[in-house]
Amino acid sequence: MRLLLFGSPGAGKGTQGKILSERHGIPAVSTGDMLREEVRQKTDLGVVAAGYMSAGELLPDDIIIKLVRQRLSQPDAAEGWILDGFPRTVAQAKALDRMLAEHGLAPIDRVIYLEASPEVLEKRLGGRWTCPECGRVYSESVPTIVEDHCDDDGARVIQREDDKPEAVKHRLSLFRQSLPVLDYYRPEGRVLTIDAEQEVDAITDQIVADLQRNPGSRVGLGSRADGANA
Ligand code: AMP
Repeated sequence: MRLLLFGSPGAGKGTQGKILSERHGIPAVSTGDMLREEVRQKTDLGVVAAGYMSAGELLPDDIIIKLVRQRLSQPDAAEGWILDGFPRTVAQAKALDRMLAEHGLAPIDRVIYLEASPEVLEKRLGGRWTCPECGRVYSESVPTIVEDHCDDDGARVIQREDDKPEAVKHRLSLFRQSLPVLDYYRPEGRVLTIDAEQEVDAITDQIVADLQRNPGSRVGLGSRADGANA
């Protein structure tokens, strides 16, 4: 199974990616997480990426495509994957289709668009806290057990620089620049739109139900999980 999770920062891509990854036994690959790890380890790529990320800009397509190509060729990705944060441009989407074709693989099974209003997204991102050690994300609906400390490793959770209010507005406008990616996939009936303002479990249930209804095939043109037309 090969899925794309598409949506604004704060739409819940990371949360759904983790749940679906565990259910299906395939890796959830987040380009944002991969880049943050490169930055943390101060690799050559990390040094370059840090400049773009702190400026709230997208990395050049060739750099990010190379990173994804390398990641998807790892053995754990052989049976499928869930991509989060890629593709963000039509050039990246085309490169991904080419990568699949080169390996004789079928196109993406589903592009899951987690849709939420700017007001909800701003509120969610502003209330999001991250463990600097393991990257686990906490929020009002998923609080830490011990106040301000990660449940997994006890590190003090922080607000990511790009989750601070001044950066959030910019990230939301940057996301809108990625919307042509949906238009790229829509004509082939690969987009499933889901209301991302629902509870986490309800969103997972809708994704899973759709995958069970149409395993490995495409959904109807501009399909919505709630049955309305997109
Ligand atoms: P995210 O955590 O997905 O919001 O990504 C954090 C940052 O990493 C973005 O603001 C970009 O600077 C960079 N980034 C992540 N994915 C991509 C991508 N597919 N193309 C270009 N830049 C990316």
